[in-house]
Amino acid sequence: MSSPTQKPRPPWSAPNGVYATYAANCHCGAHRYTVTISPPLHASAGASAEAYQVISCNCSICSRNGYLLVYPAAADVTWLRGGEEGVGEGEEGEEGEGGVREVYEMGSKLKPHWFCKRCGSSLGIDIRRMGDFGGSGEKMAMNVRMFKDIDLDTLEYKKVNGKAMLTPRYEL
Ligand SMILES: [Zn+2]
Repeated sequence: MSSPTQKPRPPWSAPNGVYATYAANCHCGAHRYTVTISPPLHASAGASAEAYQVISCNCSICSRNGYLLVYPAAADVTWLRGGEEGVGEGEEGEEGEGGVREVYEMGSKLKPHWFCKRCGSSLGIDIRRMGDFGGSGEKMAMNVRMFKDIDLDTLEYKKVNGKAMLTPRYEL
């Protein structure tokens, strides 16, 4: 039963009270961080019978970067090295201004795509400037491909037809 005032459901899984934290890093290790999400990537016995539905989108940027996305609260992404602040104390200047993070912006420029300046790994998308939509607070879209010791074949995916919703920025 849908009411006329009901907003479209955001693509990410709704938190179910069971959280899990995953260690992640880019290929070269310049970026090291943890990501906490709910529900966990794998369903556990007992309290949580649900697994996070990882978003696999076919739009022009997701398909090229190979994004497989989860959407933690921005506060639940903890940067141990790299990230927004660059490479951290003691190594400042090694990679010049702005550390080892590079961004790619397109379209609305509200969703900078973060990647490692050194190894090119696609870390995810900063969607905080899109505001508090979906009633879930400010979020990041993080690429599960950076998570350590995760077998991608064991995850549950939700396919999003972004190709039909977003046109490519370019004509080649
Ligand atoms: Zn890297």
